[in-house]
Amino acid sequence: MGSRRQFIKQGTFVFFASQWPFMSYASSGKKTLGVALTGLGSYSTHQLGPSLKQTEHCELRGIITGSPGKIPGWQKEYGIADAHVYDYGQMDQLANDDGIDVVYVVLPNAMHAEYAVRAAEAGKHVWCEKPMALNVEQCERIIEACEKNGVSLSIGYRMQHEPNTRQLMKWAKEETFGPVQSAVAEAGFHFRGDDPSNWRLKKEMGGGALYDMGVYCINAARYATGKEPEGVEARVVNRRGELFTEVDETTEFTLYFKNDLRVSCTTSFGENLNRLEVQCRDGNYYLRPMQSYTGVQGGASDGTRLEPIKGKQQVLQMQDDARSIINNTPVMVPGEEGLKDIRIVEAIQKSVKLGSKYVQI
Ligand code: NAD
Repeated sequence: MGSRRQFIKQGTFVFFASQWPFMSYASSGKKTLGVALTGLGSYSTHQLGPSLKQTEHCELRGIITGSPGKIPGWQKEYGIADAHVYDYGQMDQLANDDGIDVVYVVLPNAMHAEYAVRAAEAGKHVWCEKPMALNVEQCERIIEACEKNGVSLSIGYRMQHEPNTRQLMKWAKEETFGPVQSAVAEAGFHFRGDDPSNWRLKKEMGGGALYDMGVYCINAARYATGKEPEGVEARVVNRRGELFTEVDETTEFTLYFKNDLRVSCTTSFGENLNRLEVQCRDGNYYLRPMQSYTGVQGGASDGTRLEPIKGKQQVLQMQDDARSIINNTPVMVPGEEGLKDIRIVEAIQKSVKLGSKYVQI
């Protein structure tokens, strides 16, 4: 740690965040990490909180919220002590709270960068929900803050912890069915138009289908082919123009890779979309659904069936991430993984602006 600090002090640290070694727990014998959720909305309430009850190696020990009315319920449900309850303005005080090891940022997309950086500066490991941030500059800022403060950074891409998805990643990496030739990735849900003030409809909050669901397509296009795209063409289709005045309802885009490989993607707040299909030279593989909380399943042309797993993806995700902190090993989904997707998001946005022109990534 000493030499690392010095290295950082000299201002010469290299831009490989989520690197290890970070603060080591292996030597301290610490086996259970205290997690603080920042933002107690739908995903924290219905998925992450309940998952943390089942997760080995970490437990929900703190909350950071701007809604005082939510505090008693969360304290009662999870036995959270007063000492570990914060509002957003008090976040810097986490530096003095040894009970909290990890801050999980589960806020609207436009707030990820600020709160991830503040968590890192308080010396806490950072778990950040997808999309990592709104643009490349924000992603780099998060990575830099984690690197500078010697803390770990994981992006909440739960699919990459899901065993059937991992099987696809393995087929892609090993080219089990020959080189990939084309693929289709679709992710969307029908966003009900009953609350026009919802942040998911606001540009400045990072709303829209592309940030919310499009990153599943982008991430899948990369992990299901094992390759990085070089260019993109994109267009936005807003059928409910009265609701989608600032952000995209549907974005269709084609990612272009080397060797004529293309991945066609659609992401939408207008319809339920949920599939990943990959055509290779000697066969194919697929997941349908590909990004649901449960029931992700699929198969391959050699007759392999990928049956739905039992248990929660979020439990697997947080266990994997906690283990890598405790054991001082690299995380499975580092900040660079979120950054790569956001670089592609920027290219998609540029292509849309240019009237669907090809944009290099
Ligand atoms: P939500 O709207 O249900 O919750 C957002 C929370 O942020 C609320 O508690 C709200 O009070 C708080 N907040 C603080 N400042 C706010 C502001 N200025 N405007 C609006 N809300 C504010 O959203 P959610 O569905 O819980 O999503 C939160 C994050 O989690 C998003 O980044 C989203 O992409 C991500 N998410 C990930 C998954 C996944 O499967 N990985 C699923 C759902 C959501």
